[in-house]
Amino acid sequence: MYSINKMPCTVPASHDEIQRYFENALSQNEQHIISFVNPEIFLQAEKNPFMMWYLQQTEHNFIDGNGLLLAINRLCKTKFSTQDRYAGTDFFSYLPQDREILVFLYGANEENNAKAAENITKKFKNIRISGRLNGYENKSDDEIVSIINTSSTDIVIVCLGAPKQECWILKNKDRLNAKVIFGNGGAIDFWSGKIKRAPKFMIQHRLEWLYRLGQDFSFKRIMRQMSLFPFAWRILRKKFLIERGK
Ligand code: UDP
Repeated sequence: MYSINKMPCTVPASHDEIQRYFENALSQNEQHIISFVNPEIFLQAEKNPFMMWYLQQTEHNFIDGNGLLLAINRLCKTKFSTQDRYAGTDFFSYLPQDREILVFLYGANEENNAKAAENITKKFKNIRISGRLNGYENKSDDEIVSIINTSSTDIVIVCLGAPKQECWILKNKDRLNAKVIFGNGGAIDFWSGKIKRAPKFMIQHRLEWLYRLGQDFSFKRIMRQMSLFPFAWRILRKKFLIERGK
């Protein structure tokens, strides 16, 4: 466990370890709120006390961004590589493969949500989509919670963008029966195939952001990427307060 400027984060020792975590989480009768954090989320948390507070309450914030691993490496003299990053978009590969797991997809537009559900069940034979709802339905939280609970799902993935998804989770988690709940930003768009994952060599060379920018050359995306330059500068200057826990 590490803490970067007071944001706790977890670097699993191996793929097996993260798989074991989800295996345990799914076999217990408790609720597990987790998160996958990248530099954008980290920067948001630095500015938004709610986001920071939320990330301090979650059970694990798995690192989904090479920039955060680099910051830890520079200050703690660790040697984490791109393989130690656990992306929220690879979530299904962290789940136990030997049993059926029910997943509810909430968020993104209707077309992407439906396509993602189809692609996920095609690719992962152990995953059943217990239900799905796009993120633009005119439904009350009461209705949404009731739809999710009626589906008897194990996992709820909320993709409304940050911090909207975190606000939604915080407001509704106590009424949800699912065992694992987390926000996953634009992951449904990835799973739908509408937004493509960067090629392996770009991921390995930490250029995923460039590929993403190429696919979505909007003002919003450009501004987001620009905000990462001061972050990179701070990594070079070792301007982070990193604490190492157990
Ligand atoms: N979204 C949604 N409902 C909303 C606002 C956003 O379902 O009211 C979805 C949007 O369609 C997209 C996701 O939330 O699929 C946000 O993606 P983005 O890449 O902006 O999120 P990030 O990963 O940066 O948090």
